[in-house]
Amino acid sequence: MPILLSMLKSLFSSKTLEHIELEGIAFSIKHTVRKNMKRMILRLKKKHQIELSSSKVSNKKLEDFILSQKEWIVQQHHGLKEPFLEGASFYYLCCTYTIRHHALPLKIRGDTVYLNLSKAKAQSDNFYKKMAQEFLPSRVEFWKDKMGLEFKCLRFHCAKRRWGSCNSNGVITLNPYMMKLSEEMIDYIVVHELAHLQHMNHSKVFYSLVQIYIPAYKRIQKEITALNARMITE
Ligand SMILES: [Zn+2]
Repeated sequence: MPILLSMLKSLFSSKTLEHIELEGIAFSIKHTVRKNMKRMILRLKKKHQIELSSSKVSNKKLEDFILSQKEWIVQQHHGLKEPFLEGASFYYLCCTYTIRHHALPLKIRGDTVYLNLSKAKAQSDNFYKKMAQEFLPSRVEFWKDKMGLEFKCLRFHCAKRRWGSCNSNGVITLNPYMMKLSEEMIDYIVVHELAHLQHMNHSKVFYSLVQIYIPAYKRIQKEITALNARMITE
């Protein structure tokens, strides 16, 4: 819909503003109303979707605000990568597979991963969860025996920012996305979390315990950090 028309429409309707077109690109609008919020916050996490939060304001105000940020929005939109498109990369145990689309469940053949675009995120998350459940428990068992430690239980949780955690009750949580990493990196993360059963911090003593089992931990840590942005968010 041309901008002028959509502006006119929003002026005469009391419905919430749901779409806007900026420089020929259609965006949907997700507006979260927060009481007593003084500023208006605008984010673009996905292509074609503007996320706004503010106190209750008129459509006109929302639209004006979006238009005032037009250049930034369009720039962000072009900079955002769309995961799961044909030809994009898919990572598993440090190997890169090329994505192709089909209408069936996810499958890997040679260096290609086939997935259904409309269910891609769920298919991919399920794949990593399944692989994590198959592969990680035996790694955790292996290292806990070697380190002579006991934990209460092992959980899996897809997170955006952390590979794992360990709480003071002995619950170890691992991020299934670590199945994107190499086996060496996975072992380091497992040993790191197990070492927290003894030291709930990142002190020198903590790292000397890690180093006993993973002597090259500093190099591995650096390699993981270098991959982090690319692998954990995709
Ligand atoms: Zn830690």
